[in-house]
Amino acid sequence: MEMNEEMNPAIKRVNYHTHTNYCKHAAGTAAEYAAQARRRKVEILGFSDHLPFPGNPYGYRMDMEDLEAYCRDVGKERERYQGQMEVFCGFEGEYVEGQEDYYEWLYKENFCQYMLLGQHWFADGKGQVWQTGGVPSTEYYPLYVDWLLKGMRTGFFRAIAHPDLIFMNSYAWDKYCEIACDRLLEGCTAHNYLLEFNANGYRRGICRFEDGERFQYPHRKLWEKIARTSLPVIIGSDCHHPKQVYDETVLDAYREAEELGLCLVTELF
Ligand SMILES: [Zn+2]
Ligand SMILES: [Zn+2]
Repeated sequence: MEMNEEMNPAIKRVNYHTHTNYCKHAAGTAAEYAAQARRRKVEILGFSDHLPFPGNPYGYRMDMEDLEAYCRDVGKERERYQGQMEVFCGFEGEYVEGQEDYYEWLYKENFCQYMLLGQHWFADGKGQVWQTGGVPSTEYYPLYVDWLLKGMRTGFFRAIAHPDLIFMNSYAWDKYCEIACDRLLEGCTAHNYLLEFNANGYRRGICRFEDGERFQYPHRKLWEKIARTSLPVIIGSDCHHPKQVYDETVLDAYREAEELGLCLVTELF
């Protein structure tokens, strides 16, 4: 680990993808994540817990009723580390058609300073909703990308979190994967849009898929394509436990990103 740390001493230590126990599937309070970030010499810590929606229609996230407490907790850490570490309050959220007023309200009422677009599900042309990791075939991959690009164009999201989440599906690489990735890059290039290289995929380990063994994500084929563009890339820990804030896996992600030749940035906004 020490050797890895020597590799990029010039890179500012940041993490904008941090969860808390408010989402009900992560461990640790905002205070515990912030303390660990400080120990790991992180200079900017952004909290981005899973975004609640009015009426709590979706699972795997905080309840709408916890919104204020979450922001208050993050605010306490911002005060605690003033002058030592910048702390931002954000969310990782899905783009949902018709929720534009809600996103706007979150910013206007100061509930967040940024949002990451994490599209954990999407709808097809018939309105049928699919979990991103549970689609029937690769033909759905370009639809997933369409959804990402729609979210991007709203202007509410600062970056696309794990854009390659769709590769959780086990299908072999084919022309639809190619189409999806190219469409993503074309759409992002038009806006010079920021993409997140998500370290949490590494924590899920190598899986056996139709076309052999690989990580669910980051998917090498997509990132090799991104490396041939000048699109900005940010690394996110996507930590669901305080010890993952800026852990060895994050350092591995930096090493991999540098080897790929990605255009790394450390500022989200
Ligand atoms: Zn999560
Ligand atoms: Zn996340």
